[in-house]
Amino acid sequence: MKIRFWGVRGSIPSPGPDTNRYGGNTSCVAVESAAGALVIIDMGTGLMHLGNALMAGAFGKGKGKATILLSHTHWDHIQGLGFFAPVFVCGNEFTVWGPGGSPEVLEDILEGQMDPNFSPLQTLKNFSATFDVRATQCGVPFDAGGLRVTAREHPHGATTALAFRIEENGRSFVYASDVGQPTESGPTPEAIAFFKNADVLLHDTTYHPEDQATRRNRGFSSYEDAAAAAAAAKVKRLVTFHYDQDYTDDDVDAVIASCRKALDARGGKAIELVPAREGDTLEI
Ligand SMILES: [Zn+2]
Repeated sequence: MKIRFWGVRGSIPSPGPDTNRYGGNTSCVAVESAAGALVIIDMGTGLMHLGNALMAGAFGKGKGKATILLSHTHWDHIQGLGFFAPVFVCGNEFTVWGPGGSPEVLEDILEGQMDPNFSPLQTLKNFSATFDVRATQCGVPFDAGGLRVTAREHPHGATTALAFRIEENGRSFVYASDVGQPTESGPTPEAIAFFKNADVLLHDTTYHPEDQATRRNRGFSSYEDAAAAAAAAKVKRLVTFHYDQDYTDDDVDAVIASCRKALDARGGKAIELVPAREGDTLEI
């Protein structure tokens, strides 16, 4: 599996000189299987740049096929969709898996952002590509271009978000962003079981603990929560992700340095820490 980061920021795009090193686009990660299948996780503004890159290949000719996994439908995870060039090319095929409990509910939510009050696109039906919306059933694995995917729901503020465990040839990549920690007790045993022994755990490290303490109701993790989860689950690599929109690159450097210390303090010295940065690639 090859993993590439196209957007690593929460909760609103934050481009500018202070965020150039890690990037200001919101959540979007691409996974390419060993056989070349494409799985896109989340449709934040990073999706626009991924789409522009894809247009140089099969997607520009209407011969592209991809699966999109959607963790939840907050703006920073869906806002790239209307600017994703491959959906305007006839012949391309997308299968979208996400929350909502039924395809009709999820499609209706995605239609909402196409409303003429928010977008000139008016409706998803204006896409030229096929856009097949499906709802995940938690714990029931499904196939995404030959990759095995399992979803798990976790709290996220007043709502929930999905984490995805993606497996191929004995390798595993877990995407767990916007992970709410309603209490100070940290990751639950169920979450740790879902992350267990992953080759790569991508976990949101939205906050320093002191910022999380005053914003716990927003439903994000601190680097302490991510380090605790990674150490308890004995993962091989932890990817930091979904940096707060108000954090500069220097602030993110501090998050990462503190995350390293938190891992070491929890018996996770062997865990490699990988900071997600726009444009970076990770292979497992
Ligand atoms: Zn988010």
